[in-house]
Amino acid sequence: MKDKQIENLIKAEEKRQKSVVNLTASENYVSKDVLMALGSILTNKYAEGYSVQRYYYGTDISDQIENLCQERALKLFKLKKAEWAVNVQALSGSPANLAVYLGLVEKGGKIMGMALSSGGHLTHGHKVSVTGKFWQQIPYGVDKETEELDYEVIKRIAVKEKPDIIVAGFTAYPRKIDWAKFREIADSCGAILMVDMSHIAGLAAGGAHPSPFPFADIVTTTTHKTLRGPRAGLIFSRIDNRELNKKIDKAVFPGLQGGPHLNQIAAVAVALDEAMKPEFKIYAKQVIKNAKTLAGELKKKGWRLVSGGTDNHLLLIDVASSTDNKITGKMAGERLEKEGIIVNKNTIPFDTRTPVDPSGIRLGTAAETTRGKKEKDMIKIAERIDKILRK
Ligand SMILES: *Cc1c(COP(=O)(O)O)cnc(C)c1O
Repeated sequence: MKDKQIENLIKAEEKRQKSVVNLTASENYVSKDVLMALGSILTNKYAEGYSVQRYYYGTDISDQIENLCQERALKLFKLKKAEWAVNVQALSGSPANLAVYLGLVEKGGKIMGMALSSGGHLTHGHKVSVTGKFWQQIPYGVDKETEELDYEVIKRIAVKEKPDIIVAGFTAYPRKIDWAKFREIADSCGAILMVDMSHIAGLAAGGAHPSPFPFADIVTTTTHKTLRGPRAGLIFSRIDNRELNKKIDKAVFPGLQGGPHLNQIAAVAVALDEAMKPEFKIYAKQVIKNAKTLAGELKKKGWRLVSGGTDNHLLLIDVASSTDNKITGKMAGERLEKEGIIVNKNTIPFDTRTPVDPSGIRLGTAAETTRGKKEKDMIKIAERIDKILRK
């Protein structure tokens, strides 16, 4: 690069990424092909609109790229073109979710989503997010004892509040989600069921977590977490007389965005193709095996895990209540960073502390599994974490 300042910073970041144990649950390492597509000349092209109707010319190739990305997205999740549509233009997970509400929920309408403190995402209607300013959040949480979803309680809230849309799928929930139960809940109050599978998309693609598609009306996802693609968002919608897909397309463009990022769409297409390979199924299973091993080892050493363990790629350690040395999530995260282990601080359900200095830390195995780590490595990582946090 001619720009040495930026080149040096990229190199420094590359070195950092390689040198740490990365347990950030929302991160992953993309392939060279994904990087090549992202860094390609496709970034030069404007192609406002969709392949059926563009507002620019010279867009034949743009159409082919977007169509291919859509075909692959449907194929990866075994969806029929007559039954499901997919919008691939959302710039990331948050704008994807915003587009769904913008297209389908009247301003002031009710979004029923998990509270942030229980493991929901900001864009599920939290008040500091635009989704909680233009719409009203009806929050639900997890059971105080089990720290897992209590579908009966969620149903009671839904029947009472009659939300317009119910959002299932979370950002810090370590357990399997029963999509059929959420379908039943949505039907009991006439709500649209939206699944935000951002965290577990790669696990669902690899057959390591049940697919939400048989049950959901809308499925949104980021592409850069367990799915191991570039940063982007996808919005799948069921095709029927409600015309959800048309409303969502309009909400993405011209509702929220101008031109699509074609380099990003091409990179998503590359990642989707990679996720169809047999190796990806093995990867997804290994991610879970690693998370279960890490969780089991930490438990043996006396660390309290939210809900007692994990069924997916992530786990939450309640560091504040696990030891008597008064360690908090913030202190734990900082200490681990100093020793080259990267996690994020996280609230735990019914946290008595604040999001800035919560009781927990969140750990995930998607990134380290991409780097070839197996169960035996997780045993060592658990030992290191235990030593660092008990110092
Ligand atoms: C990460 C995440 C998002 C937001 O994705 P960004 O790309 O960071 O905007 C939305 N929903 C859930 C459940 C997530 O985990």
